[in-house]
Amino acid sequence: MSKIQMTTPLVEMDGDEMTRILWQMIKDELLSPFIDLNTEYYDLGLEYRNETNDQVTVDAARATMKYKVAVKCATITPNAARMDEYHLKEMYKSPNGTIRAMLDGTVFRAPIVVKGIEPCVRNWKKPITLARHAYGDVYKNTEMVIPGPGKVELVYTAEDGTEKRELVHNFAGPGIVQGMHNLDESISSFAKSCFNYALDTKQDLWFATKDTISKKYDHTFKDIFQEVYEKEYRDRFEAEGITYFYTLIDDAVARVMKAEGGFIWACKNYDGDVMSDMVSSAFGSLAMMTSVLVSPHGYFEYEAAHGTVQRHYYKHLKGEETSTNSVATIFAWTGALRKRGELDGNQELMEFADKLETATIAAIESGKMTKDLALITTIENPTVLNSREFILAVKENL
Ligand code: NAD
Repeated sequence: MSKIQMTTPLVEMDGDEMTRILWQMIKDELLSPFIDLNTEYYDLGLEYRNETNDQVTVDAARATMKYKVAVKCATITPNAARMDEYHLKEMYKSPNGTIRAMLDGTVFRAPIVVKGIEPCVRNWKKPITLARHAYGDVYKNTEMVIPGPGKVELVYTAEDGTEKRELVHNFAGPGIVQGMHNLDESISSFAKSCFNYALDTKQDLWFATKDTISKKYDHTFKDIFQEVYEKEYRDRFEAEGITYFYTLIDDAVARVMKAEGGFIWACKNYDGDVMSDMVSSAFGSLAMMTSVLVSPHGYFEYEAAHGTVQRHYYKHLKGEETSTNSVATIFAWTGALRKRGELDGNQELMEFADKLETATIAAIESGKMTKDLALITTIENPTVLNSREFILAVKENL
């Protein structure tokens, strides 16, 4: 059998711990036997990040800008414990944060829906993809404790020195105050990423804020989305038969619970933080959640939504058997390969991505799964496989 050829390299970002072990298994068993893998490899494992003072992360992001498509393994974000464990020179920033800042992207998280792993919400039949704006608001706030009576104002000083003031509150006693901001440019990038991803995946896009209460702040989000939509996207949405739908956040929450899924839900930073955990846990498992960073400049970076599964890695190091779910990591590869195929007009590569996804889902639906899924499945007497056995079960279906 001749292997599928790739004309343009895929940017490959290796990672840490148990997911690094799965990464190699997936390449060896599910990809290399079928594809003449053409990747530009960047080792984002913590040891090499430390060796290069994190330059490798920056290089990987630059390569993504050059080639447009990347696939990333989960990586450790260092904390105090990791400083000791890996003898780090400094507490490096999260690689995802560095990459996102460079690509100016939005993260879309979507569950992989399979029969036998049923969402808690009965009427959810199709995935709900959540898009979270990742700049500003309460995450870049300034707060103050107000000790006693006095006046708090918002003051804007223009470059020419002129001032604009708004009273926040006349305090009669102690209290608290918070200032936050966002940028038209960031909101507009967010909107474009959302519209692009909706077109890319042919799904409706929902967006919601609290603009009835926040008449300037949230209203600006609503206005920018509408403006970008009318100017650049309405025609293409109509041609694809998909819709852009704006509503109030409380109405959106109520509708989401009653919907059957199959759409993208764009959220402001805080709403997205909260809602993405609700949606992913209601769909069953973090290990079945994929994640893609979409930049308004047309770069795509695919990964699993979960972390490095540290606990399993320590078991693996002790020579014990692990049953780690590789589904989201497999889907990170299929997402990236399909996108690469699409950009290169490589039909074979796109078809391979479809086949690998089908083979993975078929394994689970036939009752073969890792332990995390066996604990929640509605399939009777599932066969619990270890990390390698599951990947081999997928290979057999291929
Ligand atoms: P985690 O996602 O690795 O694990 C959270 C829980 O979910 C654990 O109980 C784990 O056993 C379970 N779990 C997650 N994925 C699983 C899988 N594929 N199969 C079976 N069970 C699975 O998150 P954590 O423990 O909070 O973090 C571990 C490390 O991962 C940290 O160093 C953190 O910085 C890093 N992390 C990286 C990313 C990323 O690169 N995108 C995201 C989150 C966390």
